[in-house]
Amino acid sequence: MKTRSFIKNFLSKPLKFTGCFKVAESLLGKSKFGYIMSWHDLAPEIFKSHVEALYPSKPIPLDELINRYKSGKSTKNFFAITFDDGVGSTVKNISKVCLQMNWPVTFYIPVGYLNGESLPYHKVEFLRKNLAEGEYQIPKISKKFHGKKFKKDELMNFLGNLIYTEHSEVIYSLLKYFLEKAGDSRSTSSFKNWFPKPISWENVKELSKNSIISFQSHSLTHTAVSSLNEDEIEKEMLKSKDIIYQYTGRKIHSFCYPYGGKKSIGDLAPKIAGKYFESATTLIKGRLNKSNPFYLPRIDLYENDNGEVARLKTLLG
Ligand SMILES: [Zn+2]
Repeated sequence: MKTRSFIKNFLSKPLKFTGCFKVAESLLGKSKFGYIMSWHDLAPEIFKSHVEALYPSKPIPLDELINRYKSGKSTKNFFAITFDDGVGSTVKNISKVCLQMNWPVTFYIPVGYLNGESLPYHKVEFLRKNLAEGEYQIPKISKKFHGKKFKKDELMNFLGNLIYTEHSEVIYSLLKYFLEKAGDSRSTSSFKNWFPKPISWENVKELSKNSIISFQSHSLTHTAVSSLNEDEIEKEMLKSKDIIYQYTGRKIHSFCYPYGGKKSIGDLAPKIAGKYFESATTLIKGRLNKSNPFYLPRIDLYENDNGEVARLKTLLG
């Protein structure tokens, strides 16, 4: 990890200079293609420095970028800003920056989370911090793994990986089982206070009045759609689409796959997304070049990435 971050920092140094960035972009043959950026949860000033580092490329609305891409128009020097998961403080702070800077932004929201059900990875994170050390056995809830024994650290890795591929019912019941194990009702109620609060529907309604702020679908339950059957995938897509529309009154045209990797998406979901949306986005890295509109790549950035790393990632994307 240390070596990787050293290489990342070393390689990104010359990219401090806009001139070098532009040269590297054209040498790599990437400058012709636009791209979609993805963030989750970070301080607004870091987000601002990332977007500013990508100059002369500029943000345009996601639907406009995708329409340009689908109709064969150039996407050169354009990108779209997307944020996943709808954490309340993030949506509010990022909206503020985007309104000040006039940067169009899309928030992909998981409807169940806004309705009060915390996200599976929040629960795993809570267990990591609060479950006592010791040996644990997987209960009958999971037929596949029933009886398996794990030390706490192994269990956390197991659950942390399982959410990327397992069905929502199994995940929900397993996490509930271990949350109860994590202690008495006190800790269950402390979990309710612990997990980051989502943006409220009231705020979604209010923010949607700004034309540059858009809310799109990140499913109902934040489940890996590869674990679901056709009806279940349709429900995740259609119900979330309807509910977000009810609050925003704006077109819901894009779906963002939970977890975003190949094994979490599977083959079926992109076909179904094609029926109900104009685009669907992954977390597979890349620019808008010969990709299926229902399997679009994105370039993800995090709190620890600086402006040069932001440039490097868009170059390699
Ligand atoms: Zn997500």
